[in-house]
Parts: sequence; structure tokens; C-alpha cells
Amino acid sequence: MFIIDSHCHLNDEALYPKVDELLDEAHKNDVGIIICPSDTIKSSRLAIELANKHEEIYAAIGIHPSEVKNTTVDYLIQLKKLFNESPKIVAVGEIGLDYHWDKDEEIKKKQRDAFINQIYLANELHLPIIVHSRDAIEDTLKILKEHKPICGGVMHCYSGPVELVDDFIKIGMYISFGGPVTFTNAKTPKEACLKTPLDKLLVETDSPYLSPHPFRGQENHPARVKLVLQSVANIKNISEEEASLVTSQNVAKLFHVKINI
Ligand SMILES: [Zn+2]
Repeated sequence: MFIIDSHCHLNDEALYPKVDELLDEAHKNDVGIIICPSDTIKSSRLAIELANKHEEIYAAIGIHPSEVKNTTVDYLIQLKKLFNESPKIVAVGEIGLDYHWDKDEEIKKKQRDAFINQIYLANELHLPIIVHSRDAIEDTLKILKEHKPICGGVMHCYSGPVELVDDFIKIGMYISFGGPVTFTNAKTPKEACLKTPLDKLLVETDSPYLSPHPFRGQENHPARVKLVLQSVANIKNISEEEASLVTSQNVAKLFHVKINI
């Protein structure tokens, strides 16, 4: 089996010191490729460093919505410069909106501006986007409709309503599921997963966050994407092999990474 963790913060300070160990554990659990997204300029640099060092790691660079308020005005110039530092940068992300922590209208506006600016950066670089959306699903959809990502993208760890799955797919987005789809009481992610067509489905861990059942609450690792995949296979009523194959093919198509299956 060949599984891809499409969203794993190996550049996070909790995971970065033990990347070799985590990759080893991931390989033992059939994880063949890991996409490492970023949230700041600093973590974008680390993602690039990891991608340049490890064959199985690919990087995404970008400013996370919750980090927008701490970012200097030249972030777009800095990101563009970083893009030249590796052929393994496959996306701009994670970008988007997070109104959960930032309630101030001025900061929310800054988030929307940074989201839009980074969509255009992705379009200029011919890259897809990785989108984070928390407590802001309507605004996220509105921006994506008005500022279309021409190379598509993925709604990472989708937590929006089932009814909007089709709307995101219509504008070229894939839908990715993580730990919450494994939680016994998680109705919405399971329904959203059921609704997502196989050719638009991705799996991820979002490590070190959102550990799947039965590790809920613990630090998450890329090896555990296998537990997410098992849940997704169950929900879609297909074999784990088929789930691993389609989700890997989807990653290959979206991020233009080569897979040997
Ligand atoms: Zn993330």
C-alpha cells in the first residue's frame, strides 16, 4: 500500500527535532509521501529545507491566517524569493481564514487581504493552494469564487457543512479529511466524506494536531494517516487499498508529484 499524508507540519517545533524517527515510523505504516505546509516565513524555510533533504517530503509555502497579524508587509516578496529555493515546492499554503481566535474586524480584513494576495501569488507561480478555514466557511467560499485559484487546491481538514462540499468542488477544490473523521461522535466530517466523490478525496494528519481515534488529544504523527485512511475506506465502503490508490492519485494530480505505484 502507498499512502500520502497530504498535510503534515514536520516543520513544527514539536516534530522537527525528530523528523528521521517520524519518517521511519511513517514508512513502516506505508506512508510514501508527506506534504509539509507552512504558516510563517520561518516555517516555510524549514519546509523547504526538509523537502530538499528528504526525498519523500514536499513543501508548501505560505502565511497561515492566524499568523497574518504578525507578518511584515513584505511577506509576498519574501515568499516569492523562497519559491526559487527548491523544485519541490508544490503549493501555496496553508492560507485562508480563521475567525475562531481573531474576532477583531480589522484583523479579519487583514486575513482576507492576505488570503486573496496569496491566491494570486499561487496563480502567478502556477501552483495549487492549501486552504485552512475555521469559523469562516462562507467568507472562504466567497473569496474563492471571486478570486479563482487557477491550479485548484484543497480544503484541508474539511470541517464545513456537507451542503457546501459541492460548491468547493465546483471551483476546483479537493476535499481533505483528517483525524476528526475517525472520532466516534463526529457526524459532520463523516457525512462530508460520504458526500465527497472519490476523485476529489484526500487524507491527511495535520500533525502534530488532530490525532485520530484512539490517540485523540495526543501529539499526532504522519504514520497515523493510516488510521484516517481506514476510516475513510469504511465510510466510502471501499477497500483500504482502493482508498490509498485514489487518494494518492489525487495528490499526484493536484500537486504534480510523481508516485510509483
Ligand atoms: Zn495545518
